[in-house]
Amino acid sequence: MTDSILVINCGSSSLKFAILSNAGQTLIVEGIAERLGSDDSSISFKFEGQKTEIELKDSSHKQAVTQIKYWLEKHPYIQKNLVGIGHRVVHGGETFTQSALIDQSVIQGIADCSQFAPLHTAAHVTGIEVALQIFPGLPQVAVFDTAFHQTLEPEQYLYPIPMAMYRDHHFRKYGFHGTSYRYISQRLAELDPKSQRQGVLVAHLGNGASTCAINKGKSSDTSMGITPLEGLMMGTRCGSLDPSLTSFISKAEHISCDEALDILNKKSGLLGISELSNDCRTLEEAMVSGDSRAKLALDMFASRTAKYLASVATTLESIDHLVFTGGIGENSSYLRHVICQHLKALNISIHEDKNNNAPRGIASEIHADHSNTKVWIIPTNEELVIALDTISLINH
Ligand code: AMP
Repeated sequence: MTDSILVINCGSSSLKFAILSNAGQTLIVEGIAERLGSDDSSISFKFEGQKTEIELKDSSHKQAVTQIKYWLEKHPYIQKNLVGIGHRVVHGGETFTQSALIDQSVIQGIADCSQFAPLHTAAHVTGIEVALQIFPGLPQVAVFDTAFHQTLEPEQYLYPIPMAMYRDHHFRKYGFHGTSYRYISQRLAELDPKSQRQGVLVAHLGNGASTCAINKGKSSDTSMGITPLEGLMMGTRCGSLDPSLTSFISKAEHISCDEALDILNKKSGLLGISELSNDCRTLEEAMVSGDSRAKLALDMFASRTAKYLASVATTLESIDHLVFTGGIGENSSYLRHVICQHLKALNISIHEDKNNNAPRGIASEIHADHSNTKVWIIPTNEELVIALDTISLINH
């Protein structure tokens, strides 16, 4: 086993972690601390095929990181190889165009981006500060979801609102899932080296979902905006709609604008339309048993995904590749089928057998022989990118 990296993804009530070694290629242990801040929080470790769960007494992020430290002390042969910690950070604003070795000025820079993602940013800062306390002397790196999209041209990232809003407040499109898109771009280049000089569309479809156009290896447009609410319909987010609706909902329901936004973020999307679940697998099962609202929700999801693939494709010279990734993109043959049906006018077409019988967990090509565009399923691996960036920055 060579140098290992602890990857931390700290949310407001959860903390996901993984330790990767051998240049990020080997996953040694992974786990999650859940329900942080509540009475019944716990942390689980998945190691050598076995899952163990430990109750967290004070339910804090600090307690969760302390338990990871205790676990490492019980596995000294893993602890001795730990060389750094990589943190996933959702919003890097315009400050961070790439990953950064963490020091006080980087922590301040992350905190300064909090206006756009207050809950996430507060959790990230806590996670970083706690990790610095519990693993003193271990170098730490921040990897930003927004960084990959800093290559967008102003024409794409500006909103058509008064320029002063951008100048004074930095209101613009930032885009997210950048770590996943960067991984997909690099993995596709291994599978098909020409792709680095071509036009690539990626649909990252999970509970959060977005599309990205990658022109010659660089992000040229993406569907999410100043926050992850813009663009596709998602598990519980509505995606793009007429902004006047926020005011209509708030007046009709006698709630504040923030409460209306909460509905658009947490009670809309697949959940809002199906009135059943935000989970694609549950909805597919319901659709097969004849639930028409589940089918409507899934078909709306597909139609809107296709729309935002076509939209970001306007920044490409040609659509040479289309990649599906994320929990839904990797696993739902139904949604891949319906999305590609909507893209027929772009001469994108999939091979039904290859789509239906694609092996789980590995990259595969699923386009029809006559398709202008190669269509791929590529499992994403954000932890690997975080581990590799961490190794690269600490060896610099
Ligand atoms: P993620 O946020 O990337 O973890 O993706 C979560 C989403 O992937 C959920 O909506 C799951 O229902 C969906 N998903 C995972 N496995 C499957 C599957 N086999 N078929 C359909 N959807 C799936």
